[in-house]
Amino acid sequence: MGALLVWVLAAGAVALTVGAYLVWVVISNRRRGITGLGRVVRLTCPKCQRSFDYAFVPGASLTSLRLGRSRYFACPLCGRWSIFPLTDRPGVP
Ligand SMILES: [Zn+2]
Repeated sequence: MGALLVWVLAAGAVALTVGAYLVWVVISNRRRGITGLGRVVRLTCPKCQRSFDYAFVPGASLTSLRLGRSRYFACPLCGRWSIFPLTDRPGVP
């Protein structure tokens, strides 16, 4: 019974941490004039030269590698991995 209680407490702590992080992301985005989770930027793939909208969550990334202000991930159009610079001005390379 004691072990079960520990597991319940651990799961609760993880849920609280994740919840607090999501709240922090939303609040910090609001401060920068961004609503909701993440932003959408217009990126152009250097491999296939086609542009697409890329939604990302500032400060967090599950599907790409963070490289400062750039991300390394697979192009959704051609599937090839490239470094995409993320600018604050959508449409400006
Ligand atoms: Zn591409």
